[in-house]
Amino acid sequence: MHRVFTIKILLLVGMGGLITANEAAWSRLTPLAQSPDWAVLEKYQETITREDFVHLLESVYAPGGASTATIQVGDQQAVIATRKGKPPFVLRFATDANSRNPVSTTWKSRDALPPPPAGKPLHGLKIALDPGHIGGSWARLEERWFRLGKSKPVTEGDMTLLVARKLAKKLEALGAKVFLTRTKAAPVTSARPERLKEAARASLQDRGQRATSHALASESARLFYRVSEIHRRARLVNESLRPDLTLCLHFNAEEWGNESHPKLVDENHLHFLVTGAWSADELTYEDQRFDMLHKLLSRTIGEEMRVTEAVARTMAKATELPPYTYKQNNAVKVGSNPYIWGRNLLANRLFLCPVVYIEPYVMNSREGFARIQAGDYKGTKKIGGVPRRSIFEEYADSVASGLADYYGRRSRSE
Ligand SMILES: [Zn+2]
Repeated sequence: MHRVFTIKILLLVGMGGLITANEAAWSRLTPLAQSPDWAVLEKYQETITREDFVHLLESVYAPGGASTATIQVGDQQAVIATRKGKPPFVLRFATDANSRNPVSTTWKSRDALPPPPAGKPLHGLKIALDPGHIGGSWARLEERWFRLGKSKPVTEGDMTLLVARKLAKKLEALGAKVFLTRTKAAPVTSARPERLKEAARASLQDRGQRATSHALASESARLFYRVSEIHRRARLVNESLRPDLTLCLHFNAEEWGNESHPKLVDENHLHFLVTGAWSADELTYEDQRFDMLHKLLSRTIGEEMRVTEAVARTMAKATELPPYTYKQNNAVKVGSNPYIWGRNLLANRLFLCPVVYIEPYVMNSREGFARIQAGDYKGTKKIGGVPRRSIFEEYADSVASGLADYYGRRSRSE
């Protein structure tokens, strides 16, 4: 015990005192997060070379040197700050690609699945569908509600659930086992804003904001519908469902202003997110640092990119939407496909398996709004003079086609 401790202290001195000096500041947690069990990462010892580790940090997870303060990369290992009073986590690198230990995961990549029978390209695959947001009577509270004059209110949480139901049927017909993280317009978490006041106060304090009654009300609401709700869904996915793939279903929007007098815009676009782009500030949270390393080390990125590319192809073709381009630095371009970006969201980083996060259609674009108002229907309807399928049908159908294309390219069983 004592000897191990001494070695770690020496290591720290060798690796630079910065890690210990800032440990206290780096012990903070994001709201409602638990302090992580760093021993979980022990199974990734010698599974990655230094070169691959640095490359993944720079190209996907912590671009622009975001991790240099909290993760010290040496020749043979990386030293990662954990929390105050605890030794850092030391990740030993594999000496070369041939000698690295295999990574064991609960999810299966396409190549690890048995060959599918004819007509069932998704056979053997477990998919979780996460219909983004809550919808229904919660839509206004979660700020996913707007209404133009006497039109039908546009509520993203109800639309994602409709798409999830349609998509589940299609994926099951193609041979997949499908689970939904929610099946109605109601929260999965049992937490409610009034019980999150103390957590809200701590969260405001952490961000250096004053806990006025207005700020407390809005922060406790946000902790309920976003943070607690997503934590609950992630537990369901990671601990019970354990799928091979999670699809996060969303609709996009541009700033609409007043929910009762929303602004309609001309821009309509499509993009996809893989988990990435942690900032230096986000990495000062212990749970975020742990989640980032867990994602990186479990090597979801390869499968995530391949599945996302396949779905991007079929969705771009079906929707004819141009790619969205991020102008803010909260996202990073990953790979060469113009539709795919890396971004660090609670709604993608907490799911341990590969995640495809889908952001099609601007709900307050003139075109998107007209199509949403037309509702769900069979066949085509003319919208703005153009024959269109239902926006929900087009969404579900093009996602299913992309998955069928990707997982169908396995050698078939005879
Ligand atoms: Zn959304």
